[in-house]
Amino acid sequence: MQTPFKLGFRGRLIAAMVGLVVLVSLSIGALFMAYLFEEERTRAIAQLDIAERLTREVVQRRTALELSRLSVLVQDFGFRSAVASGDNATIRSALENHSRRIGAEFALVLGQSRQVLASTLDSPAPEIPDAMFRAAAIQGHERQLLTLNQAGYELLLVPVQAPGLRAWMAAGFLLDQEMADVIARLSGTDVLFQARGGESGEPQVFASTTTLPEERPQMLAGPVNQSEVLDNPQFFSRTLPLASNHSDLEAVLLISREESLHRYFQRVIEITFLVLAIVLLATALALFLARSLGKPVRQLADYARAVGNEPPPVAPDIRTGGEIAQLSQAFTDMVSRLKEREEHIRHAATHDDVTGLGNRNALIQSSRQLFQERHPCCVIGIRLEELSEINDTLGLELGDKVLIGTANRLRDYLNKATLLARTGGDEFLAILPAMSPAALKHQAEALSGHLQAPLPVDNTPFSLRITLVTMSLPDDATDPNQFRRRLNLTFEKASDSGTAVTRYQPGEDENHLRELRLISDLHTAITEGGLTMNYQPKLDFRTGKLVQVEALVRWIHPDLGFISPEEFIFLAERSGQIHDLTGHILKLVAQDARAWQAQGLDIGVAINLSAMDLAWPGLTDHITRNFTDWPGGMSRITFEVTESAVMDDPDKALATLNQIRDLGATLSVDDFGTGYSSLSQLRNMPVQELKIDKSFVLNLASEPQDQLIVRSTIDMAHGLGLKVVAEGIETMEAWALLQAWTCDLGQGFGLSRPVPLRDLLGTARALAQLEPELAATHTETSYD
Ligand code: C2E
Ligand code: CA
Ligand code: CA
Repeated sequence: MQTPFKLGFRGRLIAAMVGLVVLVSLSIGALFMAYLFEEERTRAIAQLDIAERLTREVVQRRTALELSRLSVLVQDFGFRSAVASGDNATIRSALENHSRRIGAEFALVLGQSRQVLASTLDSPAPEIPDAMFRAAAIQGHERQLLTLNQAGYELLLVPVQAPGLRAWMAAGFLLDQEMADVIARLSGTDVLFQARGGESGEPQVFASTTTLPEERPQMLAGPVNQSEVLDNPQFFSRTLPLASNHSDLEAVLLISREESLHRYFQRVIEITFLVLAIVLLATALALFLARSLGKPVRQLADYARAVGNEPPPVAPDIRTGGEIAQLSQAFTDMVSRLKEREEHIRHAATHDDVTGLGNRNALIQSSRQLFQERHPCCVIGIRLEELSEINDTLGLELGDKVLIGTANRLRDYLNKATLLARTGGDEFLAILPAMSPAALKHQAEALSGHLQAPLPVDNTPFSLRITLVTMSLPDDATDPNQFRRRLNLTFEKASDSGTAVTRYQPGEDENHLRELRLISDLHTAITEGGLTMNYQPKLDFRTGKLVQVEALVRWIHPDLGFISPEEFIFLAERSGQIHDLTGHILKLVAQDARAWQAQGLDIGVAINLSAMDLAWPGLTDHITRNFTDWPGGMSRITFEVTESAVMDDPDKALATLNQIRDLGATLSVDDFGTGYSSLSQLRNMPVQELKIDKSFVLNLASEPQDQLIVRSTIDMAHGLGLKVVAEGIETMEAWALLQAWTCDLGQGFGLSRPVPLRDLLGTARALAQLEPELAATHTETSYD
């Protein structure tokens, strides 16, 4: 995903290229400018060198010219005569004449003792130092520069010989504009003459070939050095002294930078334009490159993103060569490999790798679709009952061959199936077009026969036991989960029943769900006190007295109401909760029995044990813990055990029964007559009581056959030393018959229904009222 803050590939390419170009252009431009500037400076220095030499030359030559004129003058006869006359007025007149001729601005004649004899100046004559006289005396002339009346002068001093020294002549020549112009013209630089060190500290300019800017003083006050050049924004300049002695008169040579700066800026602008042009060009080039590079990359990215979409994307047509082409090729290869792999995965995901039929996923997909479209169809489930035995004994390889053989038979036989799948280790499933229940049954039975015919594997014929189940959709299930659950349920039923073809029966699933719920809720009922006990009186036939009650467990489910103990005890056995349940019942009964004893009701109690309790090692412990010190005494606790419970695992059951017997409790065989045990078998068991099942008693008065059975059972039991209890006594007739046949104890709705503890005392009182009526003396006469 692209964030707006990140430069894309193109952006970065352009930025990098343009940045690089700008950097290079600017560096070259800067270098070029520096070079131009340096060049300019070098040229200026060279020109200043020339100008300097020229200035010296011009000054020297003028001095030489002036000197030669002066020497002509001092040898002039007329002039010498005038000096020799000693008359100041004469000398002055001659001086004025001659000095104008030789071009001097002013002239002086001094006497031998150096006093001024004549002067062309109106102002006082300048002071001439002694050193100058001495030098002039030795060399024949001397030169000095000086400032006078705000003008610069070259002062020349020569002796006047006549022969022998008669006087001195001094002449001042102006350092004037004319001379500056000459130098400027010859050297191509501007020139100015100035005197430094005036009272104001500012140089004083006498002549100049250029107009100077305002800040001239600072500019021209730089150090005096021949080779030095002074830079400032307007000029390159050099200052040189005009004389080697103390004079502070100097010439300043100036080269205006205006023009060169102008040229310089011209170049700057040119270079800027050039750089801009290059940058534009670079940007355009970068854009083009980025487009031509970026386009295929983008195309590939779009392509990669679309891989896996429906319909599959078409590979982009990329014309670029090089790495991009390689990348594109790699992409195409990758996508085709991905497709292959996906194909493979898709196949593996929906197919069984042993038989090549569909697998569980395939079934899930098809059934989802079937239920969505509410498409009617039929299902046949096939289970190989002995596959795990074959795998265990003959090996997985052979097991696989059996599976493959079976799959092939299914393919052949069910060629109209819309789906054939192996949906479990030993389970296949076929979805067939809708047909009538009769046709489905017929087809399933035929298939069963076909599949059970010996299957040749490795030249050995295998006879397989196969269970088939059938369902019709959507009648038998309306969603995939329901379908799967009901199918499994039917498989379970089929395995139990052992029939070849089993059809799902409507309602089975609902029962199943109810059972699941009860199993899970039973646990809560046990742990959270949801169970209570009812007690049904047992009366002595001789006295009509209440001697014992049978404890019967009750569960009122919060949503489902009364749950029959037969139903939930069966579920407790199946879900492994039976020991918890029995333990809990023992505790409840022990509590209740102590309570009624405390109320003065001295009766025994009978407790039902489940078949599975006889295989429970903890049973006797529980009995001991709950009933030792019970006021009624151990012998008055009876445990009712069905005969089938004993027959399931006689050894273990017998061991447990003996242990219970050892505790001193009484043992009773419940529901006698419904199982297969005979009285002779009972002989070997430590039981003291036999309870004739209510099915023989309920209609006793009207069923002569029941009468026969009951009567002989009582006789034989007595013969074996067993007491006999009859349950299910609903009528006085039944009571009277049993009494006549010397049955020992009687129980039934006709006497009392099972009651909760709180009603037990009341029930006992009501029964006591009936005692005289029920006692043996009363009835003996009627039925004998
Ligand atoms: P059972 O041990 O044969 O219990 C006697 C059943 O017969 C009781 O049904 C009782 O209410 C019923 N009955 C008694 N007299 C008559 C009568 O005159 N007419 C009719 N039609 N029925 C009568 P209940 O309470 O529904 O119990 C059914 C079975 O559930 C019991 O059969 C017993 O096998 C089991 N059971 C009940 N309570 C317990 C228990 O606490 N522990 C165990 N392990 N099983 C129990
Ligand atoms: Ca019973
Ligand atoms: Ca019974």
